Amino acid sequence: MSGSCGLCDRVKAMAEGKHPAVIREFKHSYWVLGDHQFFKGYSLVLLKKHVREMHELAARERRELLDEVMRAGDAVAKAFKPWKMNFASLGNVDEHVHWHIIPRYKSDPDHRAHPWLNSADFNKYGTSPRQRTAALRRLRLHSRDA
Ligand SMILES: [Zn+2]
Repeated sequence: MSGSCGLCDRVKAMAEGKHPAVIREFKHSYWVLGDHQFFKGYSLVLLKKHVREMHELAARERRELLDEVMRAGDAVAKAFKPWKMNFASLGNVDEHVHWHIIPRYKSDPDHRAHPWLNSADFNKYGTSPRQRTAALRRLRLHSRDA
């Protein structure tokens, strides 16, 4: 699906070791640091293959993918100790199964609202290579036993 799906392109780069923000590879997915860190520890789990809907996966694959999402979420929670964890799978923009793992903090503006409320500000929270390396190290450390 490469060429017509941005997430397939990303997954291809990850498989080739050319993506700078992979935290960990799972059986069905890659866990990757988010492009922005508006929410410290924000990361995503991207299904390796191009499937549009969770319900299109075989039951076993679906269970295993959800386990991978939860393993990533456990590590984010341990590493960043957020007030609340949000998990979201939408796919209205990128029609390829992926999960947003969004740690929420009481210090967030509007911390009781959905996480996209301040999305216009997300690109102000890009990471430097040094910040990315630090976040990757922290998340990998906490995912060892996950
Ligand atoms: Zn795709």
